[in-house]
Amino acid sequence: MNGCAPSPSDTVERIPFVEDLIKQMTIEEKVGQTAQITLDVITQGNGHSSNEPLQMDTALITEALVKYHVGSVLNTANNRARDVQTWHHVVSSIQKVALEDTRLKIPVLYGIDAIHGATYTAEATMFPQQIAQAATWNRDLVYQAAQATAAETRASNIPWNFSPVLDLGVDPRWPRMWETFGEDPYLISEMGVEVIKGYQGNDLNSSTTVAACLKHFIGYSTLASSGKDRTPSEISDISLREYHLPPFRKAVESGVASVMINSGLINGIPVHSSHDIITGLLKNELGFNGLVVTDWADIENLHNRDKVASSHKEAIRLAFNAGIDMSMIPYNYVQYYDLLVELVHEEAVSMERLNDAVRRILNLKYKLGLFERPVVEPNSAVFSDAHKKLAYLAASEAITLLKNEAGLLPLSQNTKVLVAGPNANSMRTVNGGWSYSWQGEKVEEFAQDYNTILESLEIKFGKSNVVYVPGVEYDFGGRTYLDEHQVDIQAAVDAARNVDVIILCLGENTYTEKPGDLSDLMISENQEKLAIELAKTGKPIVLVLNEGRPRIIRRFADSMDAIVQTYLSGNHTGDALADILTGEVNPSGKLPYTYPMFSNSLVMYYHKHSEQSKTPEGMYDYGGGVYHQFGFGHGLSYTSFNYSNLVVSQEEFDENDELWVSVDVENTGEVAGKEVVMLFSSDLYASLAPDVKRLRRFDKIHLNAGETKKVTFSISADDFSFINAQGNRVTEAGEFTLSIAQLSETIKLLE
Ligand code: BGC
Repeated sequence: MNGCAPSPSDTVERIPFVEDLIKQMTIEEKVGQTAQITLDVITQGNGHSSNEPLQMDTALITEALVKYHVGSVLNTANNRARDVQTWHHVVSSIQKVALEDTRLKIPVLYGIDAIHGATYTAEATMFPQQIAQAATWNRDLVYQAAQATAAETRASNIPWNFSPVLDLGVDPRWPRMWETFGEDPYLISEMGVEVIKGYQGNDLNSSTTVAACLKHFIGYSTLASSGKDRTPSEISDISLREYHLPPFRKAVESGVASVMINSGLINGIPVHSSHDIITGLLKNELGFNGLVVTDWADIENLHNRDKVASSHKEAIRLAFNAGIDMSMIPYNYVQYYDLLVELVHEEAVSMERLNDAVRRILNLKYKLGLFERPVVEPNSAVFSDAHKKLAYLAASEAITLLKNEAGLLPLSQNTKVLVAGPNANSMRTVNGGWSYSWQGEKVEEFAQDYNTILESLEIKFGKSNVVYVPGVEYDFGGRTYLDEHQVDIQAAVDAARNVDVIILCLGENTYTEKPGDLSDLMISENQEKLAIELAKTGKPIVLVLNEGRPRIIRRFADSMDAIVQTYLSGNHTGDALADILTGEVNPSGKLPYTYPMFSNSLVMYYHKHSEQSKTPEGMYDYGGGVYHQFGFGHGLSYTSFNYSNLVVSQEEFDENDELWVSVDVENTGEVAGKEVVMLFSSDLYASLAPDVKRLRRFDKIHLNAGETKKVTFSISADDFSFINAQGNRVTEAGEFTLSIAQLSETIKLLE
């Protein structure tokens, strides 16, 4: 199907103002609108090492905007954050040329990756990364964090955010797993909708909202062989539709403004050249009427990397005819412009297709109100204490208590502790990538007002109670982002002799995309050795994991007395962790993924029954709990919850019935706590091997000590549907089990 021009999308909104502009535009002006260049192009890449306002080069801006009619700029900011005044200066300089010097006075659409806060703004609030936000299981917190991020991003004069990521977080080898909401399609869908609501609000034409961008449509995250970024995926139509598609479908239904395409290959076809996926699935089937943007240089990649186009021109033809509307980083934007103009003159890209692309771009500029208000005045009040409190709250609900043997936690504030490990004293590792810079390498410079884990523990336990001997340290200036350099394990072991408890902070240094590629999912050898040697001291150990993806800890997990996962919870990770370790906050985070125990067993909780069959050694892969370290949804509390009285409104039902499922949850412990109530269903027999179970509903509730609450969910036959062998979504009659915690009921769907 590649190469045939799609029919124009008649459903794209016709806005009279935009239609009028399109009528006046030349082919050249239209083509220019589809190009998105980086800020570096018009600043000549200056300012890399200084924090001075960027030097805006009017001649370069004029060349791009006036001569080549460029429609969009993408912010890499020479890979460092700038203050909000600088953003005002940068964007004003660009919009001034766009609105004063171009023939049709079309403003520029400025885009950024503000994926956990306004990434490139010095004053920004850094919220937990998506994987940690998913671990809160708290829709409202996720919504509010997105709302605050939108306000801070727009205040920085950037109206378009390349977020959220709705890829499945199913492969921990992949260096972007932490950018996802975890492994479950339903959890991702629910969180995705909250983020879009938070970013876009009711009106994009506001100084507090931004246009969201779903990414990366579709199938980016399940890498077929090495797990390395942008390596090929092999995905059947069934699993594409069963697992990957639902979050995107729901997000499109909720009115998301834009979509970015998967940079990789699915079954040998680069997604950027796939008419079936971009036009067929996204625009026609899902009815997406917004803007489709490529990922970084991905039109060029059809020629250079993927070799499906024998020339630059052929690559542009393929991508546009597949349904791309805007090209992010056409490497040489002048050449791109010339070639696309030629293609339109030759009718190899139709005028209808070009108009459709331009309409989608201009509609978004119009809805964002950029024609009337291309810049927002700097307003530092937006970067408020309320946002910081919210970021703290999100971190405190994300952090997940995975193990707590003999009730070691919470610790009394008089405890003498040894703090060790390479993640103990770094603002960089708690934030992760896309924090004040792409790989997170600039975090220390910008996050000085916040506490590292060590600093928060010193405040909490008192400086005299805390000894800090890292034992292993990262090479923060090193060649690769994952290197460690200083290793003095004996020093940490010696220091352990004089303390009551060891708080061992292990994990990963920051990374994203290719620089974060791994060859081994085991936690690094040095860190493993540190854990094993410290365990030999016999002192109780609290293992704090500060990592973007679950690194394997099997060889020492059993000798840790408590294990806490912080993920990448942002600037407030240290404070939230200290409050949890001392019991001021009762942990309520739950794993949004399955924590693997072995590299060869990366099985999701929604696996097939055959994953559970006995191995020759008589061990079970998943069901017996042998091959995963911690299950999906796992997370402990300092109180205990008892579930009782599971009631389903009907034992037998048909397609049109709405069922009610209720359960009583009691806090049977001595402190208040939050609990995530999860409803799973299992299809007992189906024409396609059913998953052992699937998450269908969840709710997070607060219970005081001794309190009981009834939680009720509604569910219907549609919730038990699946993609069958013919690729259709069907619900088959038969029996289903509904389960909440340890309780379950079996119900029957009639023919
Ligand atoms: C990433 C995208 C990101 C884009 C723009 C790409 O390398 O894959 O997720 O939005 O860069 O920064």
